[in-house]
Amino acid sequence: MTHPSRDHTLAHSGEETLLLDHVAPAAHPKVVRDELIAAAEWVSQYLSDLVTAPVSRPVPARQRALLRNASLGRTGSELGRVLDFVREDIAPFPTGNGHPAFFAWINSPPAPAGLIAELLGAAINATCGMGENALMDLERGGVRILADLAGLPVTAGGVLTSGGSMANLLALATARTWFLNRRGSGDGPAYDRDHARLTLYYSAQAHMSVAKAAACIGIPAHRLRPITSDPQHRLDPDALRAAVDADQAAGLLPFCTVTTLGTTATGAVDPLEPVTALCRRVGMWHHADGAWGGLGAVVPAMAPLYEGVAGVDSLTVDPHKTLSVPVGCGALLVTDPEHLHTAFAHRASYLTACEPDTLPWLSHATIELTRPGTRALALWATLQHLGRDGITTLIEHYLTLADRLREKITASPRLELLAGGPWPVACFRLTDTTGSDPDALHTRVAHHVQTAGRAYLATVTVDGRTVLRACLCNYRTTESDLDLLLHEVLHAADRDREAQVRPPR
Ligand SMILES: *Cc1c(COP(=O)(O)O)cnc(C)c1O
Repeated sequence: MTHPSRDHTLAHSGEETLLLDHVAPAAHPKVVRDELIAAAEWVSQYLSDLVTAPVSRPVPARQRALLRNASLGRTGSELGRVLDFVREDIAPFPTGNGHPAFFAWINSPPAPAGLIAELLGAAINATCGMGENALMDLERGGVRILADLAGLPVTAGGVLTSGGSMANLLALATARTWFLNRRGSGDGPAYDRDHARLTLYYSAQAHMSVAKAAACIGIPAHRLRPITSDPQHRLDPDALRAAVDADQAAGLLPFCTVTTLGTTATGAVDPLEPVTALCRRVGMWHHADGAWGGLGAVVPAMAPLYEGVAGVDSLTVDPHKTLSVPVGCGALLVTDPEHLHTAFAHRASYLTACEPDTLPWLSHATIELTRPGTRALALWATLQHLGRDGITTLIEHYLTLADRLREKITASPRLELLAGGPWPVACFRLTDTTGSDPDALHTRVAHHVQTAGRAYLATVTVDGRTVLRACLCNYRTTESDLDLLLHEVLHAADRDREAQVRPPR
């Protein structure tokens, strides 16, 4: 009889060894354990060291070429090579979104609970697409919690996605199927006739993934209607109504309006109730893109803006933005999940359950079949680590920091605040732009800040002007990082001024 603790020695003796030696993924359990421990130690050290390292370091051209031209040797390498490679060739060149002085885009650092869960989930390696397994039910549970936080009705369901873009794509495909089926034009000549008239509405401030998703489902650009926004960069319901009426009069078929909760450029929240009312009147689907701001209902200060959120047909949320779940975690929430299943449930003989499942598989609610269970576990771990209060406090922390940043900008005679809010972002510019094209100047200043490596921000176009944009979505950011950012901006402006007066030879 073999003692369990000797199993691995058995597997590595005699003929077994010969076999396993030819199957590279198999490694001695002790080696696997040592490497996992080494990796875990490196990760925790890396996360602590990030704060004192440069925010971002561009990948040297030589290094980039080396990575791009990667070749594969004939013989494999030791398991330890994985950590060595990451340490030496990847980690020294971060984009910067782990660093507290990183303010570009909406790019959060990873929450530790999510990091741990990703590793554990990868070991379990469940696929959340077919069959029944614990992680698939956990995904359903995570989706339920997100829907509840967002203020959707208890009937709501949905599916996790790789991010907001994919969620928006699923939403538009669902809206299209729902709309055509209701008209009895789900297939046949009626489909061709009606599909060629489908028209989509969204605010001019909507994320570009909306137009991209429209292209993917076959809505050409000439049937997209970016609606003008008001001075606070919110969708103007009157302009929307006028566009829909004009299109209907012209024989087109308005099938969906997309509102944005937390616009990417300025953090605006579109009005929900007037849009839902219009959608009900003309039979359109109301999709809300809340990739950044979809969970605003949990924050008392913002809740009034989310009145009526329960009336939307679908909502995109992006836990990898708002909650710092490691990248690769978005969700589409649908008030009546049946519509999602109508759009995506396709059956095949090689995919039948042994036991008839009581619930639709998650692959029947999305495009993917084999889907990562790591995503469900990382979401669950992050949500549970935060708790409901922690989620509110986290978003409130960003709101407070954004208020402080806007105050500091307003207080500086050299800076002017142009837009930002209610989601935590500040769009601002230099007051003195004499001698430079202002758009080019702000692009250069952002670039100087990025390359100096002490803080990081990006530019954005607001009301036709290129301006600096700082976004708060890093739980490690503190007030001193705000001061550092503004110091870096002014320093970059001074350096730019000198370079313009005395161009480098
Ligand atoms: C970021 C963002 C998206 C896209 O989400 P990804 O996760 O990057 O694919 C869509 N809509 C809005 C409003 C966003 O801010």
